[in-house]
Amino acid sequence: MNEFDFIHQYLYRQQQDEQLILGIGDDAAIVRPRSGYDLHFSTDMLVGGTHFFPDVAPADLAHKVLAVNLSDMAAMGAKPRWALLSVALPELNKDWIEAFCNSLFALAARFGVTLIGGDTTKGNWVFNVNIIGETPCRQSLRRDAAEAGDDIWVSGLLGLAAAALDVHWNKVTLPAAIFAQCEERRLRPQPRVALGQELLSLAHAAQDISDGLAQDIGHILQASKVGAEINADLIPTLTTLKQQALPLAQLRQWLLAGGDDYELVFTASPVQRAAIMAAAERTGTPVTRIGVITAGAQLHLHDHAGNVIQLQQQGFDHFV
Ligand code: ADP
Ligand code: MG
Repeated sequence: MNEFDFIHQYLYRQQQDEQLILGIGDDAAIVRPRSGYDLHFSTDMLVGGTHFFPDVAPADLAHKVLAVNLSDMAAMGAKPRWALLSVALPELNKDWIEAFCNSLFALAARFGVTLIGGDTTKGNWVFNVNIIGETPCRQSLRRDAAEAGDDIWVSGLLGLAAAALDVHWNKVTLPAAIFAQCEERRLRPQPRVALGQELLSLAHAAQDISDGLAQDIGHILQASKVGAEINADLIPTLTTLKQQALPLAQLRQWLLAGGDDYELVFTASPVQRAAIMAAAERTGTPVTRIGVITAGAQLHLHDHAGNVIQLQQQGFDHFV
């Protein structure tokens, strides 16, 4: 298969999109923004050996490449609309490409995203998506909008992807059924797109958790010039994972500093509690309150008893 077979046979697909003027096939795609909407642009790259193992299933890889980008739109409260996909692959293997593209288009269709272009080159396993989403004008969940007195909420369960990764690295062992749940999360994160859009009118600041809760909420604190108090014992995780005979420090490290969960952390006024619970119910997304935004500038972590928790590492950083 050559580059043009790949583009023509696997990427040219009929996609329903009223705003699409010109899709894949020309030097650039053309889309028409809706009047009254702001566009949001983001990009996220996955590199072989850094973000995925060489033997990853193509369907899992395609899911993750798009899902991590959808998660950035979710974190802004934006509706994802268009994606461009750039790939560097050592070869074009038919079965591999077919599985990859089927998974990619299935996830795109689920979220109403049109693939409008990209680039294909020979090289060493790099996948990059550019994503574009929209919100009604001047409505976004920005990192700089948290206010002292806000509740801090997280969606879903945290620490699962990090636990699965530690099993791969032989740092821990977990019973097969628990590992399978954690691994499913590591390979197939579920971006919280519907919740993000509901939160536009309810939350102040939001961010997706890709590099660890402590580090990622740190971005909100810095941008908003506020502090936070978080009760680590309130951070939701898999009950069966919590019940394992693990050192507490290990579990805490996964919950507070483990990456790759792609849940949302967001802040909102306490008057919105009931409305947020209703939005969570409507979108089928569990949410949990884990702390409060303070007037300080620091992140303080404690347990139920009020003991201070120190972390060895706040989260993931490629260059540390
Ligand atoms: P150019 O040489 O102008 O960069 P290409 O021959 O690389 O154009 O691409 C032809 C068309 O196929 C373009 O519309 C481009 O956006 C699209 N395309 C190429 N690779 C990909 C890809 N990996 N995913 C989606 N679209 C792609
Ligand atoms: Mg090109």
